[in-house]
Amino acid sequence: MSDYSISIVPRLSNYPENEIKAKEILDWLISLDIVEANPTDCILGEGNGYAISQGAMKVVAHPKELPIELSVNGLEITTERTVFDTGENFTEQLICPNCQEDIAFEDWDLESWSSEKSDDLTCNACGVQSNIHSYTFEPQMGFSNLGFTFWNWPELKPEILKGFEEKLNCEIDIVYRHL
Ligand SMILES: [Zn+2]
Repeated sequence: MSDYSISIVPRLSNYPENEIKAKEILDWLISLDIVEANPTDCILGEGNGYAISQGAMKVVAHPKELPIELSVNGLEITTERTVFDTGENFTEQLICPNCQEDIAFEDWDLESWSSEKSDDLTCNACGVQSNIHSYTFEPQMGFSNLGFTFWNWPELKPEILKGFEEKLNCEIDIVYRHL
């Protein structure tokens, strides 16, 4: 089967002290027994993640769909500037906060954001630069130096998402990715 992920990404390009916050959130998830404490090979790609644990049953609407039997079932923590995309490389809608035009099918690019030159995106229609988080992306993407990706987990309950928002003390984007 193909893999799937849900990422929780703060709506901040540069989350302050992102590694300290990453550790704090990991400790919180371990304390709830949502993930295991020891990093293992349980995510897609390189590096280790934190495998699913029993408490995960309480934070998803459909616990039977949890990937207990899969080898790719863990939490991946990202602390580098990353574009969290949908894996499909297709944006249906991208609305500029300044002129309200939909530039999804224009030649916009994330190069200056990815290379840390800017936290803004330049609109192809009006030429104005605006904070990347003030644009409306459909489907949702995430842009930050911090992110929490659950591999092959079903939909997370609103309560746990609210918990993330409180811990991060900012708004979050939820990015669904299909590979
Ligand atoms: Zn514009």
